[in-house]
Amino acid sequence: MQRFQYYIDGEFVDGEARFQSIDPATGDVWAEMPEAREADVDRAVDAAEKALYEGPWAKMTATQRGKLLYRLADLVAANARKLAELETLDTGKIIRETSAQIAYVADYYRYYAGIADKIEGSYLPIDKPDMDVWLRREPVGVVAMVVPWNSQLFLSAVKIGPALAAGCTMVVKASEDGPAPLLEFARLVHEAGFPAGVVNIITGFGPSCGAVLGRHPKVAHIAFTGGPETARHVIRNSAENLASTSLELGGKSPFIVFADADLESAANAQVAGIFAATGQSCVAGSRLIVEASVKDAFLSILKRKAEAIRIGSPLDMATEVGPLATKRQQDHVAALLEKSIASGARLITGGQKPDGVGYYFPPTILDCDGVNSPSLAEEFFGPVLSVISFESEAEALRLANDTRYGLASGVFTQNLTRAHRLMKGIRAGVVWVNTYRAVSPIAPFGGFGLSGHGREGGLAAALDYTRTKTIWLRTSDDPIPDSFVMR
Ligand code: NAD
Repeated sequence: MQRFQYYIDGEFVDGEARFQSIDPATGDVWAEMPEAREADVDRAVDAAEKALYEGPWAKMTATQRGKLLYRLADLVAANARKLAELETLDTGKIIRETSAQIAYVADYYRYYAGIADKIEGSYLPIDKPDMDVWLRREPVGVVAMVVPWNSQLFLSAVKIGPALAAGCTMVVKASEDGPAPLLEFARLVHEAGFPAGVVNIITGFGPSCGAVLGRHPKVAHIAFTGGPETARHVIRNSAENLASTSLELGGKSPFIVFADADLESAANAQVAGIFAATGQSCVAGSRLIVEASVKDAFLSILKRKAEAIRIGSPLDMATEVGPLATKRQQDHVAALLEKSIASGARLITGGQKPDGVGYYFPPTILDCDGVNSPSLAEEFFGPVLSVISFESEAEALRLANDTRYGLASGVFTQNLTRAHRLMKGIRAGVVWVNTYRAVSPIAPFGGFGLSGHGREGGLAAALDYTRTKTIWLRTSDDPIPDSFVMR
């Protein structure tokens, strides 16, 4: 059995405790992970604070920080296959997807390497004579980063990259469900030559590790990805310390198909939108809102595609849908589906948990027309699509916005003016038109409403890891004239 260590203050160390990690394709224990509790969280945060204010990182130029980030990007690219295999083994995410995604993660680090020395301050045209005033952008401080199991290398890269570019130091908490790829990634951070304490990577459970980290008095910012309920705990914990937060949460994203769309292409995008990553994707286009006149035609294409999906071992390059990451997740998907069917939703395909080992669940489509189905409101985080139809553009928009979430959305139409109206009308942080699930380091990403706040990706994300300092310098040699008048 493999045993992993975590990375604190430049050293690979065993945890205060250990826990077992399960291969979701078999349900068998395959590795032992270190478990951080209060003492190790403290050590990691202390190391990050020391690295922030003392030692080589604090004195480095932004260009030098960028060079380290370039080196890290190259190491991620060179080790993408190994990292992908570990992520697949530990979380069940298919190798076809992890290998492509992790190769792209290198580009995120490359992008932020280039940003490091472009974070500029400014000089203010101040309204007073004999006074120079500047704004300096400084690192926000020690950042706590908490990520869920799905796409951990990606979800951490969109935090670690901009935070390093901004000069922050950090403690990254890998998910207790599948921490192996992030713990392995720590070796690349070490090899790249980041000074001790700049990046600390630990793992542990929510209440005994994540919460302790979030309310640590030395943490200035918490960058969190996960579910909205956990996010509420994160905000409560941040109150201890008045830390700022950025929250990337769940979604119930609308996928709107108009009758004039290229139905074949829209169906391919819908398959990617709901069945890729076995539906464990925050941007899953989990509510199909289809124009009534093409509903049957579109569903028959979609059903054919869903039933042709190859389900199998996540380590097999031919597999398209692998297991869910945990038994808990498999039980949640089955229970929400049962509740939805009980409410009147009709199964079009899928729905049956297969016999045999592993936490598999087949691609499932539910017709929810005329039904107040919980599947339209609650996140499965699994391969289940809920379908409703509309008669008019106004109704499509109303249905799209009928959610407390607001992460992503898709619009499929050939009508340009309608596409523009919907781009403006949809209340979500991302609108994809005639495409779905596209991301880039250059494009900001994030949600509205219960999908969170703050943006990851783009220059803005790096600025979010800075705070400004205003500097006043009086340039006159004359004595200050009047002590009792503010000027
Ligand atoms: P989760 O909220 O249960 O856990 C996420 C992380 O929070 C884990 O590392 C966990 O240990 C930690 N945690 C748990 N309790 C905590 C606490 N009290 N304080 C601090 N940390 C705590 O989420 P999950 O079930 O692992 O992941 C699925 C959720 O993540 C879904 O809702 C999904 O939509 C969301 N997600 C969002 C994005 C995005 O970018 N918007 C991306 C991926 C996943």
